[in-house]
Amino acid sequence: MTFAWDGIAVGPSNTAHFEVPVCTMASGHKLALSVHAVTGSRPGPVSLVACGSHGEELWSSEFCRRLRDYLVNDGYDFAGTILLAPVLNPHSFASGTRNTPIDLHNLNRVFPGSKPGKNWFTDMLAGVIADKILPKADFVFDYHGGGSDTVIHYHYTVDPKLSSRHALVHDVALASGAEVLWEHNEQRGTLSNCADDMGKTAFVVEVGGGGEILDSGSFDRAYGGFLNMLRVIEVVRGTPNLSRARVVVTKGTTVRPSNGGTFVPVSGLEILGKTVAGGTVLGRVISPYTFEVLDELIAPFDKTEIMQVRNRISKVHPGEYAYIVGDGATGYAINT
Ligand SMILES: [Zn+2]
Repeated sequence: MTFAWDGIAVGPSNTAHFEVPVCTMASGHKLALSVHAVTGSRPGPVSLVACGSHGEELWSSEFCRRLRDYLVNDGYDFAGTILLAPVLNPHSFASGTRNTPIDLHNLNRVFPGSKPGKNWFTDMLAGVIADKILPKADFVFDYHGGGSDTVIHYHYTVDPKLSSRHALVHDVALASGAEVLWEHNEQRGTLSNCADDMGKTAFVVEVGGGGEILDSGSFDRAYGGFLNMLRVIEVVRGTPNLSRARVVVTKGTTVRPSNGGTFVPVSGLEILGKTVAGGTVLGRVISPYTFEVLDELIAPFDKTEIMQVRNRISKVHPGEYAYIVGDGATGYAINT
């Protein structure tokens, strides 16, 4: 499979690194976005792995780096080209914050962005991604994950009955390796919304996090999930395993502390992807000054499906992510 990027050809079973210019920053530094290409041994579509829109999601940027090695070490045994964009918001990565420190905006809410000189920096950055990177892809895997102290695992899906494209998105969700799927019609200026509007097929993957970054097995499992998703779109040979998902929820929410302090989990990784009874204490916020318990974070639904955990003793601000949960009474069980 030969792939061409702005006139530069990359032959089959090869890798290349490209830089997409963005602008000159006030520091004088020229900002560019890195995109790696890995070409398969046979013809096929272009699949983009988009990581690091949220810079605090370090796990997904590291997964993206390892992904190139996995694909090379497995002998480029796939169709088409896989583009790897490890850090789509470098300033957010550098500061370890969800939003861009320069204008405090959330990159994954401002797509399709703006032309240079028309809006805030983050909007310009989204505009460059939408103009220069997304058009090169047929399929977009929009990877998100936990921050430094959390671990996430779920996958967004849609109603498969609506169209063949919806059915494909659902099959990829079934193949992702996540036990809990969230049927959700996102319309908030996300990268995946933008890709959909451009006629691409986008998949939103929520996996990993700093709370398991020392476990190299977490990267191996995510690679297994990635290969299984690629089987659905026939980029990798073989029959996909569509029986991994357990439940689809149509309603979810975040469980966040009302007060800041030291977060002490009661339950961690062992409940990720599992059902927890309503009223279960998931974690507590404790004052490091007075030692008082300031908050108890409670499973809110009778059948609470756990999609993200905060599994580390960690400092929390009021309103920060602690748990993401689904209402198991909504949606449906999957019996395949
Ligand atoms: Zn994210």
